[in-house]
Amino acid sequence: MKTLPFKNGDTMPAIGLGTWKSKEGEVYKAVMEAIRIGYRHIDCAAIYGNEAEIGQAFKDAIESGLVKREDLWVTSKLWNNSHRKDQVVPALQKTLKDLNLDYLDLYIIHWPVALKEGVGFPGSVEDFLSLDEVSLAETWEGMEQCVDQGLARHIGVSNFSMEKIKNLLTTARIHPEMNQVEMHPYLQQNVLLNYCKNVNIHITAYSPLGSSDRPVHLVKADDPVLLKDETVASIAEKHGCSPAQVLISWAVIRGTSVIPKSVSPERLHQNLEAASVELDDDDMAQISELDRHFRYVNGSTWVREGAYYTTTAELWDE
Ligand code: NDP
Repeated sequence: MKTLPFKNGDTMPAIGLGTWKSKEGEVYKAVMEAIRIGYRHIDCAAIYGNEAEIGQAFKDAIESGLVKREDLWVTSKLWNNSHRKDQVVPALQKTLKDLNLDYLDLYIIHWPVALKEGVGFPGSVEDFLSLDEVSLAETWEGMEQCVDQGLARHIGVSNFSMEKIKNLLTTARIHPEMNQVEMHPYLQQNVLLNYCKNVNIHITAYSPLGSSDRPVHLVKADDPVLLKDETVASIAEKHGCSPAQVLISWAVIRGTSVIPKSVSPERLHQNLEAASVELDDDDMAQISELDRHFRYVNGSTWVREGAYYTTTAELWDE
């Protein structure tokens, strides 16, 4: 399995397991099965509401000798309601308790969005905090304390535009090492990818298969279906693999890590096996033509009249 190298010698397996929407009663089995068949990178988040069940799987997998803690790469994310500097370490401590771990490999700011304490998702504009009041620089200081205290080996961000990263770099004491963003053939983000490469920030590609199980409020009737793309299907046929494997292999070849979500044993296996699918230059050229700057997770949840972001263009700086 290809890995992404970090400055301190750590390595992140390029293919990991996503856990958003992996339900109670399903996610324990999925994570156990994933570890059993060789996944060593699991992507979690406090807001997914399933960290305690994932933590039980980690505990059982480690105690039974299936895997050693040091061979797992575990990422989790700071939720938007804990962005004040003094809220960050406690939020991570809660995540660690749920995950049955004493450190994370990577902790990232989930969104460049701040909500009031206790708010999961905003019901009204009153639930937001302005980033003028709680800046991303302040939140980053809290993230740095997580490293200082040995609770996270690496820290980074998610859903950050180039502009937001540039701003963060002007104040950061500890360099961010990851930006986790939506990335797939319909949203290739070449400029962001190249910028991040130049400033030594890795990219993790989320929703790499087009997030077909995303919540209904994010689904529109005319949304393109990535797994049914004809070009992807024809490349899959050529290699005798599935469209999902083409999409995962494409992400790995571009030097990103990639975290397809599945709770099905067959698809977990298939997605990991994508590591051995080798796309050629012609395949990559054909896929590069598919870019249409289309987001499945469009950030509309964070946009409201009177809130810090009033348009998605402001959120994404585009
Ligand atoms: P994905 O693009 O990974 O798609 C998941 C869907 O694809 C599920 O319905 C899954 O079904 C199905 N699927 C999985 N494997 C296959 C396959 N081989 N063939 C056909 N269908 C398949 O969507 P996500 O949005 O979940 O993104 C992946 C992960 O990225 C998340 O789970 C999360 O960890 C992270 N993420 C992070 C975000 C952030 O803001 N930082 C936002 C969004 C995602 P089934 O489970 O039944 O197999």
